[in-house]
Amino acid sequence: MAQFKCYVCNDEVRTGEKFTFTKKGSVHFDCFVSAKRKGIKPEKAEMLRTLSLILDSELSHLLNLLRINAVDEMSKEYERIKYKDIEKAAGETTKKIDEL
Ligand SMILES: [Zn+2]
Repeated sequence: MAQFKCYVCNDEVRTGEKFTFTKKGSVHFDCFVSAKRKGIKPEKAEMLRTLSLILDSELSHLLNLLRINAVDEMSKEYERIKYKDIEKAAGETTKKIDEL
């Protein structure tokens, strides 16, 4: 995996850590959510809680897919397709959180 830096804590994003991308760049899941929580209006707190739980499960799903390590081409292809699906879903949830 290419090396990314988290724009909130400035630490490297390591393999196996939950992270996402926003317009500002790569960010740890925890850093992203806690930074957002600080600046949010009280009426949007419940939406942030829900969306962050959804994003958490999507990112866990991605990490789990990476652990499958398919061997043959057909399996690898399916794994790749599924990864892209979830990556897209995680991207959408990230965008929703960013817009709160
Ligand atoms: Zn961070």
